[in-house]
Amino acid sequence: MSIQEEFGSLVFNTKTMSKYLSHKTYESLLATMENGTALDATIADEVASGMKTWAMEHGATHFTHWFQPLNGTTAEKHDAFYNPDFKGGIVASFSGKELIQGEPDASSFPSGGLRATFEARGYTAWDPTSPAFIKVNNDGVAVLCIPTMFYGYHGEALDKKIPLLRAQVALAKQINRVAKLFGVPGDKRPFATLGPEQEYFLVDAEVYRQRPDLVQTGRTLFGVRPARHQQLEDHYFGKIKNRVLSFMAEVDKELWKLGVPAKTRHNEVSPAQFELAPVFEEQNLSSDHNMLTMEVLQTVAERYGLVCLLHEKPFDGVNGSGKHNNWSITGPDGKNWLSPGKTPHENAQFLTVLVSIIKGVDTYAPLLRATVASAGNDHRLGANEAPPAIISIFLGEQLTDIINQLEKGKPTSTKSGSTMEIGVSMLPPLPKDATDRNRTSPFAFTGNKFEFRAVGSEQNCATTNTALNTIVAWALDDVLNQIEALTSKGTDFNSAVQSVLQKEIKDHKRVLFDGNGYSGDWEAEAAKRGLPNLKTTPEAIEAYRDPKVIELYKKYSVLSEVELESRYVIEKEKYETMIALEANCALMMAKTMYLPECISYAAELADSCASLTDYVHTGVSALAKSAAENVEKLTQEIDKLEKAIDSGDSAAELAGMKDVRSVVDALERIVPDSQWPVPGYGEMFFVG
Ligand code: ADP
Ligand code: MG
Repeated sequence: MSIQEEFGSLVFNTKTMSKYLSHKTYESLLATMENGTALDATIADEVASGMKTWAMEHGATHFTHWFQPLNGTTAEKHDAFYNPDFKGGIVASFSGKELIQGEPDASSFPSGGLRATFEARGYTAWDPTSPAFIKVNNDGVAVLCIPTMFYGYHGEALDKKIPLLRAQVALAKQINRVAKLFGVPGDKRPFATLGPEQEYFLVDAEVYRQRPDLVQTGRTLFGVRPARHQQLEDHYFGKIKNRVLSFMAEVDKELWKLGVPAKTRHNEVSPAQFELAPVFEEQNLSSDHNMLTMEVLQTVAERYGLVCLLHEKPFDGVNGSGKHNNWSITGPDGKNWLSPGKTPHENAQFLTVLVSIIKGVDTYAPLLRATVASAGNDHRLGANEAPPAIISIFLGEQLTDIINQLEKGKPTSTKSGSTMEIGVSMLPPLPKDATDRNRTSPFAFTGNKFEFRAVGSEQNCATTNTALNTIVAWALDDVLNQIEALTSKGTDFNSAVQSVLQKEIKDHKRVLFDGNGYSGDWEAEAAKRGLPNLKTTPEAIEAYRDPKVIELYKKYSVLSEVELESRYVIEKEKYETMIALEANCALMMAKTMYLPECISYAAELADSCASLTDYVHTGVSALAKSAAENVEKLTQEIDKLEKAIDSGDSAAELAGMKDVRSVVDALERIVPDSQWPVPGYGEMFFVG
């Protein structure tokens, strides 16, 4: 099969639909998929039957509703197509009802108090805007997966998809308003686009299994950086080693079959770190595809004796992994609205959207920060390697210049020489490369899209995109209201736009920053500007309880107050559970793996000293002393960690882990490699 034929071969896409459905049903389903119109219930049986036939031809015996509960993963519960025929055999069937709605007994998923046990059932409902697909595992087991929403008895959103879909509706409504106001042609459904660049690590499976911390927590809780790590920066974009490239090639192929447009693959900054970027798609689909991508990365890794680590910080001392959330808007005209236009009118529209985004991000920075809060991501956002916890916007020199002039309100010449006045003259073209790369900015304009870089590698980007859509919808709503208020009083349209944008820039320019986001100076400057700097998850998730955020989500029907509160409860619990789990794992390793070996080695050294007394041996006795002292210190730190775990306080547990680690890491520098109980960083870094 050619790649073109193989692409989407495991997806119930338009090509497959046209083969397995009658023309009438096909048209009706297509309308639902493209316009988000309600599904015609009378066609459900035929769609289900067509899907079943297709899936069975691919060897599927089961179907599952595939959903995204609030624990951040994907969930599935398989049901066979088969039922007894009461004549001693079985028949295959799949009804429209089974396709449209499921009722998994999913009472064990976190609901953050949204469900009392007596109504613990959750329901799944088909999301026809994301096509069904067939997942095949490494042994060829095929399952028909139907992307679904997951909600409670009273319709409460128990997943990450429902709020995203709701936020898309809110954004589309405001985009249509902009279109109307600026006379943009076209009547297509506007939508946000998403292109998530996914970073990950690969380690050898054999080595992985010998590290209980990696297996249980996804990250190394101990370990010393080897002499050679990322300082030569030779890994980034370096030649891809054989086993890794074979793995990547197979990942791409599997993703293509699933209709995921995998595009770019390369080595990342850290040793053993890599990246996969897809071509952007409609946001809901792309978000589903990212969840699928993470799964495929892990499944295919097994075939190559590798393990794919999606944790945000698997190794201390080298860069962690994130997800660059490339976001833009496609308008009813089918055009990318973050591309500066070719006419003055289009430019005014572009600047209106741009300034609204700035307003939204500045006003709701704590909410954006909350959406990327997790125990794992704290290691990145709190450190100087990934975008800092301070949310700021990078626009690049040219656009900053334009914004500055807009603020002053006078049509003056731009850097490239043309004149600038909203609605009168043209923006200079903004070539992608002119927006010089600022890797330290959490929210960067990159020519024709915004790139939010604080999302963690393991996170479901739906949470962030829900917030992004909503805050931009809110900002547009407010900006448009102001423009309309002025024009209704007789101000001409161009002047109204000009004066509203001018005011908004004045109010929100504090969030604009083109400098080095990693520097201490910026922290101080940001504090002066009054920008929040929420370094840890417990601080960040408080945004979910902020009356301003509650009001925002309520106003745009994205999440009700109780739904939002449940997110707070779940994130808090998840954080505390994760830290406690790590602390317990660290304790177990320190006590039962490192301590015994270190005691033996310290004792051996002491014996050696005794037997060498007749010789000069100051160095040896110093070594023995240091080993003995560190072992003693380790026992004390173990005690402290045990107490921290008993206290149940996450901050104490984190501090306890750090202290135990520093002693173990000191011992790793002394104890012979052959006696060290687990493989070190050096053995994990250079996977080939
Ligand atoms: P970079 O230089 O940042 O790597 P690329 O052009 O390679 O930029 O794109 C990175 C990601 O951004 C890709 O996943 C790409 O599909 C995505 N992207 C490009 N245009 C858009 C857009 N209009 N909306 C959303 N994502 C986009
Ligand atoms: Mg990028």
